[in-house]
Amino acid sequence: MGFSIETSDHLASENEIAAIHADPGFAVHASDHMASARWSNGEWTDLRIHPFEPIKLDPRAMALHYGQEIFEGLKAFAIDDGSVAMFRPEENAKRFVLSAERMAMAPLPVEVFIDACEELIRIDQRWIPTTPGSSFYLRPFMYASEPHIGVRAALEFSFSVIALPTAPFFSATFDAITVGVVDQYVRAAKGGTGEAKCAGNYAASLLAKQQVVAMGCAEVLWLDAKEHRYVEELSGMNLFFVEHRDGMNDRLVTPPLNGTILRGVTRESLLQLCATLGYETEEREITIDELETRTKSGEISEAFACGTAAVIAPIGRVKRRDQDEIVFGSGKPGETTTRLYDELVDIQKGRSELFPEWRHIVSGASMSAAESLTA
Ligand SMILES: *Cc1c(COP(=O)(O)O)cnc(C)c1O
Repeated sequence: MGFSIETSDHLASENEIAAIHADPGFAVHASDHMASARWSNGEWTDLRIHPFEPIKLDPRAMALHYGQEIFEGLKAFAIDDGSVAMFRPEENAKRFVLSAERMAMAPLPVEVFIDACEELIRIDQRWIPTTPGSSFYLRPFMYASEPHIGVRAALEFSFSVIALPTAPFFSATFDAITVGVVDQYVRAAKGGTGEAKCAGNYAASLLAKQQVVAMGCAEVLWLDAKEHRYVEELSGMNLFFVEHRDGMNDRLVTPPLNGTILRGVTRESLLQLCATLGYETEEREITIDELETRTKSGEISEAFACGTAAVIAPIGRVKRRDQDEIVFGSGKPGETTTRLYDELVDIQKGRSELFPEWRHIVSGASMSAAESLTA
């Protein structure tokens, strides 16, 4: 199955793209094209690369009423040798299949997902930023497009990928964030949709986010739905804690994937990277009380969140209503957190010998020699 290609007749000028590259923001400006495909009569058809444009949707489209929508987020990078690489797109493609299955949607073959991303990168390679830390953010998504009022799984779906140049999440300083616990709401219960990357999970998290923002926090730290004790993840990032052990390497602890936590590609990559760098890792349940006690005693010295957008976001503090703050170390990004961030970014940018297979080179895309010199 190949993609047909319709080139835009209103391409952005080199000057317009240069202005966007000078100040891209986070995924603000979409590139000239997008990829699309449709599922109908039991097959994927109409695979196209076409100009970026608004989506025409029947008002009865089932996604608008019953919420079948899933998405992915991954990045492509200008590599120092002039090539262009996506970071582990196979993992995102496989997760997209799992999300589709959970939401009773049509699974998109892994090859079609990757081809769509590659074709879009090739046609819009002028848009890939080269400044340090910047990337080309890819947002694949799928929604129920079938016009039908009445609750059941849809029979028609639309898939698209858009691409947006993106500044580094931490532009100047690698700052620690404060996260907040809410008592009233939960993100995901066992048997629910927590493991699927679906729009509904995010919609359900927004009110809690407003509450913690009012407490001076950047994100919600979600506890398990049943006992409200076990630390799970943030709304869009997984969690790690660093155990400091005298005379030994640090140990990295992350909550296990028990059905309510999203299977982050960054989380999984960090577990492998940590093992290679000589850190012990442990996937185990950790309660908010243990976190408080062992942070006070200094046994847990650092915490961070991880995900495609930020790669790693150091966590300085946890706030709870009417309870003491939990402060990790000095409340500033820790040494191990910073090292892991640097190591992972080096792998993504092709500056490390480790895990070369994590870079999926996009054939037919390259940065000009002049541009790669400035990277
Ligand atoms: C996307 C997401 C993550 C991070 O996953 P990555 O593959 O590392 O980007 C973590 N938690 C939730 C809830 C997410 O939606």
